[in-house]
Amino acid sequence: MLTPQLLDTLKRRETTLWINPLRSPSRPVFDPALVEQAARRFQRAGGLLARTVRSLAGGDGLVESPLIDAEPLRQALAGEGRWLIKADHRMPLAGSVKARGGFHEVLAYAERVALEAGWDGEDFASLAEPRWRSLFDEHRLIVGSTGNLGISIGLLSRALGFNAQVHMSRDASEWKKKLLRDEGAEVVEHDGDYAVAVQAGRREAEADEHAHFVDDERSELLFAGYAVAGERLASQLSAQGIEVSSKHPLLVYLPCGVGGAPGGITFGLKQVFGESVHCWFAEPVESPSVLVQLAAGLDSPVSVYDVGLDNQTLADGLAVAQASMLASRCMLDSLAGVFTVSDEALRGYLRLAQERLGERLEPSATAGFAGPHWLGEAAGRAWCEANGVDLHAATHVLWSTGGGLVPDEVFAGWVKAEEPE
Ligand SMILES: *Cc1c(COP(=O)(O)O)cnc(C)c1O
Repeated sequence: MLTPQLLDTLKRRETTLWINPLRSPSRPVFDPALVEQAARRFQRAGGLLARTVRSLAGGDGLVESPLIDAEPLRQALAGEGRWLIKADHRMPLAGSVKARGGFHEVLAYAERVALEAGWDGEDFASLAEPRWRSLFDEHRLIVGSTGNLGISIGLLSRALGFNAQVHMSRDASEWKKKLLRDEGAEVVEHDGDYAVAVQAGRREAEADEHAHFVDDERSELLFAGYAVAGERLASQLSAQGIEVSSKHPLLVYLPCGVGGAPGGITFGLKQVFGESVHCWFAEPVESPSVLVQLAAGLDSPVSVYDVGLDNQTLADGLAVAQASMLASRCMLDSLAGVFTVSDEALRGYLRLAQERLGERLEPSATAGFAGPHWLGEAAGRAWCEANGVDLHAATHVLWSTGGGLVPDEVFAGWVKAEEPE
């Protein structure tokens, strides 16, 4: 429930930990077969990606990020247990978690367009040939985005020979717009927030039968692409000899905007690890969209504007006022909870990641760093007790969701702003 006390905390922009009262094992709301299909599609498309994406050339075309040790960060933040970073800022081409969902949807569209034109569906790598590229050139992918989804869809579309149109709010980062334009994508700017850009993209696509709209709020292809992360993380953990069990639970902290990326990943992880994994979303104090939606219940959409917030945050990848209802439905009975983070904290984490780990992230990508702290506070300790979670014996995965393409001067601006004059 959105209790008066919770509303008050949110309105004051005080950081908080919200524990999901409805969490209980139940039947999945999303079809697990769609996740298997996505995993197979990525597998089959490896050859095509290796031929069309420069950073994947010469390999098997697997789109994945490393799982890296974060012990120096754990020490700096006085945490417990084993800390790891799931480094999606190092995702090929897109430099963010959006490679998971976005690439999957572009590949599914390429497959559909080619099949309709008589492709036998056998060898994905053959879609790199001029015959198919010129077919793709007659088609367009359209997306509305705060930035990173646009980059993911835009860059892979262009790499495969598709046209791409990205709708963004006028105040989205200039460097993201420039990057897209330099790669031949069309960028359309809108007054208003992310939701306005999404709506405009949706309308544009409805009027063009050679266009496909990537719907960040409703797409099952995106969600399934994100969910493939579950089995991928499982094999990386097992390759590092890390046990996941009720004695050694996995605690995962995921930066959250509309909820699709962290929701899909949570769904995938739950499929693999069941009750041994506990997923927490991290949202800016100005944009706790999934928190308010889950707390209010799913009967009707509730936005952060409704509770008096203005959705202005340094974490542009998380600046979403209204959660995805698809993601909210899927998370209602499986998410452990949500915590909120201030812009100030994000700047501090950004610096720490650079100083202690030598990793360069974007502000949104660091939101999950606050997670272990919240579990150590009173409400978190009580939750651990009730769920039999020993923080010392747990593996903590901080999902670093983006920053791989950020220009030097933009990064310098974020870090410098914290220094005293
Ligand atoms: C998009 C994004 C997220 C969150 O994904 P949603 O699907 O919007 O919840 C987190 N971090 C970064 C860097 C992103 O770009």
